[in-house]
Amino acid sequence: MPTMRAYRLLEWGRPPEMVELPLPEPGPGELRLKVAGNGLCQSDLHMIHDWKASPPHIDIRLPQTLGHEIGGWVDLPGPGVTGWEQGQPALVTLAGCGRCDACLRGWNNYCREKPRQPGIGLDGGLADYVIAPVACLVPCEGLDPARAAPLTDAGLSSYHAVRRVAPLLRSGTRAVVIGAGGLGHLAVAALKAVSPAEVIAVDPSAAARELALAAGADAAVAPGDDSLARHGATAVLDFVGAGETIASACAMIRPLGHVVLVGRGAGTLPFGHATLPYGATLSTSFGGSKAELVELVALVRAGAVTPHISPHPLDEVETVLADLAAGRVQGRAVIVP
Ligand SMILES: [Zn+2]
Ligand SMILES: [Zn+2]
Repeated sequence: MPTMRAYRLLEWGRPPEMVELPLPEPGPGELRLKVAGNGLCQSDLHMIHDWKASPPHIDIRLPQTLGHEIGGWVDLPGPGVTGWEQGQPALVTLAGCGRCDACLRGWNNYCREKPRQPGIGLDGGLADYVIAPVACLVPCEGLDPARAAPLTDAGLSSYHAVRRVAPLLRSGTRAVVIGAGGLGHLAVAALKAVSPAEVIAVDPSAAARELALAAGADAAVAPGDDSLARHGATAVLDFVGAGETIASACAMIRPLGHVVLVGRGAGTLPFGHATLPYGATLSTSFGGSKAELVELVALVRAGAVTPHISPHPLDEVETVLADLAAGRVQGRAVIVP
């Protein structure tokens, strides 16, 4: 029987293990993909280190193969699945239930049913092959699916946040990106691609600031630079979400501006007339829609956005996860099985 490698979480609170599994067979409504690349995400670290049980909002049953930022090639469509051919490159994203009000408006990332997806509730992409529901796939012709894998999460979460503030960003406005890591550097590139705003990145790491400049930022500064609060910004995207970053975002936002909180640090802010200038909007955000992923793929294909990735073999996943936890990864680390 043919087998494959898979990096699996077997029990909550215990380190994941690399195991050999039988090659999985796609069922009706599913496809098997040969994994080209799987980007590593802070959420993987949360699943490994912080969760002691399935979090209440997602139904996760162990064992489960990790990895939710997946690009691959169609290997085998399941029974009755049409429209996909073997060898076609595709990205795996969150598919909504298709029935709730959010899904019906095209916002599958805000699905009320919190459906499972490969890597979060279903076996993921830190393996040689992955099974994906057909509704999770977005084609990515013309892109290397290994390099494009981070678009499904790092890229899409950033692009969605950019899209939310883009209507405010006219000529002469300023957008600030807090945190120029795996997500932030893509937000910088997307802001430059879809708006005429001046884009400033804020990050304590000199290497991250350099990455932001390479992605097209007009300037990159360390936190606490007082020109930020002095000039203010029409849009602030916070990819950290710590108490200090939220406070600094709200200190620099202008009247009628929009702060989007993407990073899942545990920071909070009291809401009232004293905390924000008049008319300012404060919102959280999660992922992005399939339509936005299609737009992002087109921007990458056109060369307007380029993910900065470092490829690593599957056998090195533990070392690379440790690097990610220690803040030693620039851009996105992608496991290429
Ligand atoms: Zn993620
Ligand atoms: Zn839904």
